Amino acid sequence: MIISMRPHAPKHEVDYVCERIQHFGFRVHSIVGEERVVIGVVGTGGDVTSCLESLEATPGVERAVRISAPYKFVSKEFRKERTVIHVGKAAIGGDEFVTMAGPCSVESEKQIMETAEAVAAAGAKILRGGAFKPRTSPYDFQGMEGEGLKLLAKAREATGLAIVTEVMSDRDVPLVAEYADIMQVGARNMQNFAMLKVLGKCGRPVMLKRGLSATIKELLMSAEYIVAHGNPNVMLCERGIRTFETATRNTCDISAVPVLNELTHLPVIIDPSHAVGKRSLVPAICKAAVAVGADGMIVEVHPCPEKAISDGAQSLTIEGFQEMMKQLQGYIALWSLERAA
Ligand code: PEP
Ligand code: MN
Repeated sequence: MIISMRPHAPKHEVDYVCERIQHFGFRVHSIVGEERVVIGVVGTGGDVTSCLESLEATPGVERAVRISAPYKFVSKEFRKERTVIHVGKAAIGGDEFVTMAGPCSVESEKQIMETAEAVAAAGAKILRGGAFKPRTSPYDFQGMEGEGLKLLAKAREATGLAIVTEVMSDRDVPLVAEYADIMQVGARNMQNFAMLKVLGKCGRPVMLKRGLSATIKELLMSAEYIVAHGNPNVMLCERGIRTFETATRNTCDISAVPVLNELTHLPVIIDPSHAVGKRSLVPAICKAAVAVGADGMIVEVHPCPEKAISDGAQSLTIEGFQEMMKQLQGYIALWSLERAA
């Protein structure tokens, strides 16, 4: 159950509602927003129907909704309207399909600036680039860290692109939040609950990537952590899951998009690059992403993929990215018509 208090309800009303919830044998999880307090009623102890009826009649309560899903704040039952996240010039979840593009890792000033200029000119609104890199081998490049973040900020200044970059530890959240417009949680950290809690308070939108072997329900439960800790601006990212198939790096669960669109109001982004792991397959998955109603895509692009320090095989060249963006125009026009309908 979720209780939305009236805008600017006084503290004594909020306290009384919490008291009533506890009286029925439930626990309280409040989120204090700028306008209103939203209270999650959690636990299994009490009589839901009586509690709901009582709260509906309690002063200060605007709305009390019963939510059957285990994820509450992110569910469609709680909120029917799409969440729209404003970042730089983009409105993710709104009436435009948003393209995020850039290299897997920030490698040098020349590399990130050249890529940023090119993807901006081709229509991207957000620049991606990892400064903290989750690598399978401890001997592989681990990212430029703080220096990489500074280069991303420089690229933002030069191009007007917003920045999405990964944060790998709760300890690094304040530093990454200084530079990033969107905090990326990588697949390997989807269930780093300590970090998800800190991201609830980081003041920046979060892009939460689906874990390598995570179900859709688990993805939504992780998003719930961030929202329940105070941050409503979460977007979900399907980046391929592990299956028995070896022809692609992962298996792109394209059906996750319509499934998520039924279950949640949060925006859904597709990452075709990590899903397939092979440059030649990326444009087809981008077309699919637009066709199934994703809110955007995040694509790896490198000025010289054969020299990339990470993920060169799946990175589009700048020319390849330009060509793909042209090919996508018709698909995106159709997407816009459907969104407006
Ligand atoms: C990345 O975006 O470069 C990355 C490491 O992605 P994922 O966490 O999906 O593997
Ligand atoms: Mn990568």
